[in-house]
Amino acid sequence: MHRIVFLGPPGVGKGTQASELGRELGIPHLSTGDLLRSAVAAKSPLGREAEGHMAAGRLVPDDLVLQILKERLGRPDAARGFLLDGYPRNPAQASALERIVPIDVVVSFDLPKETLLARLVERRVCPTCQSVYNLTSQPPRVAGRCDRDGTELVHRPDDRPEAVETRLRVYAEQTAPLLEFYRNRGLLRPVDARGSPEEVRARVRRAIG
Ligand SMILES: [Zn+2]
Repeated sequence: MHRIVFLGPPGVGKGTQASELGRELGIPHLSTGDLLRSAVAAKSPLGREAEGHMAAGRLVPDDLVLQILKERLGRPDAARGFLLDGYPRNPAQASALERIVPIDVVVSFDLPKETLLARLVERRVCPTCQSVYNLTSQPPRVAGRCDRDGTELVHRPDDRPEAVETRLRVYAEQTAPLLEFYRNRGLLRPVDARGSPEEVRARVRRAIG
């Protein structure tokens, strides 16, 4: 079984690692955003409830996210495990999570702040399909256009330097107790996220065993 949680600051590349590793291991890569969007699209009772909160501009409550996650983890493709990306975000969510499913390993991606800043400042996002590019390491085939749908890429306001500084600081403050939570359970595996995606993936494989 591979019941894995990925933790890491914005810009660390964990989304890419999660989707490729998920494919490699044959387990679903689940991010909260995708989970909520697919529950809403499926018009399940839980999805409708989540949609109500989202439409009103409210955060979807923790217990509802957890119920949606629980339902998702019951599907056949998650029988051999799953890879949670960006969830849980705090010790309260982590302890609620372990009441519905045991976690085998928590990979925490580490990258020096200067590297993160540089990556985020060079990040461009497609507003249509949410694909993420980097001007240096992962440029689109046609400058300024999404490879998938040709939409003009945007530099999101929260990827600008001042905003990035704030996001990283908030992330570090909020995540410290969560790292502590998993460290205390002996589940935390820090992974150096420097280098190419292939190098990082090799480290992740070693970390999850
Ligand atoms: Zn696109």
